[in-house]
Amino acid sequence: MNRRYRKTIIAGNWKMNKTPTEAKALIEEMKPALSRCKWCEMVLCVPFTDIQNAVKAARGSKIAIGAQNMHFEKSGAFTGEVSADMLKEMGVKFVIIGHSERRQYFGETDISCNKKVKVALAAGLRPILCCGETLEEREQDVTMEVVRKQIKIALRDVAAEDIKKVVIAYEPIWAIGTGKTATAEQAGEVCSAIRDCLRELYGARAARAITVQYGGSMNAKNAAELLAQPDVDGGLIGGASLKAADFAAIVDAANQ
Ligand code: PEP
Repeated sequence: MNRRYRKTIIAGNWKMNKTPTEAKALIEEMKPALSRCKWCEMVLCVPFTDIQNAVKAARGSKIAIGAQNMHFEKSGAFTGEVSADMLKEMGVKFVIIGHSERRQYFGETDISCNKKVKVALAAGLRPILCCGETLEEREQDVTMEVVRKQIKIALRDVAAEDIKKVVIAYEPIWAIGTGKTATAEQAGEVCSAIRDCLRELYGARAARAITVQYGGSMNAKNAAELLAQPDVDGGLIGGASLKAADFAAIVDAANQ
């Protein structure tokens, strides 16, 4: 983390978990512990159906509510989809874009991510843009190339004045939901390469102000070590964001 130049953001990704009633109860349970948070921003990216209850439950706390996906069109014949304006009106502040599960199961591409990032920003939402390599790509030693390509395509034509609103989440696919965490050195190395890429695209000043998170089996035990890396500015957390005590422990690690 480098608090001098950028915000630390701890974001939970609940994936397809929790009914609206359960969402309300979990946020109520989290609120007291999360009120200790001084330095970082906290976000909970909940299923669409939980947004209304989550926004209400989080009111008066420092927790912002995010979504896990959106469509890039404003409206129209896209059965089952949700637009950026719809999310915005519900009180959503952040939206995950290009999570590896969406790329793997729902055909998300770098090009569709690029459309979504631009539309999210235009609607006043902050995109959490995910990138990361497969195990095979890591073993073939092409991690940096893969991540650079993902970032460069997804950020094409994103204006310089908007780039600080974008959060990048580096999530090695082999570490998501597997209990296998990247070492702090691996996470730090790729997050630093991402910042180099952002520097090439937007200049040094903008690059140092952008929050770059790590995601992939981050938990109460490994958070402090991962967050101690200078270019790791927070986490995108799946499993451990579904338990109040675990999520609070990660937030506490970010506040040290
Ligand atoms: C995620 O869903 O983005 C994630 C990192 O999941 P987990 O923390 O469970 O690996």
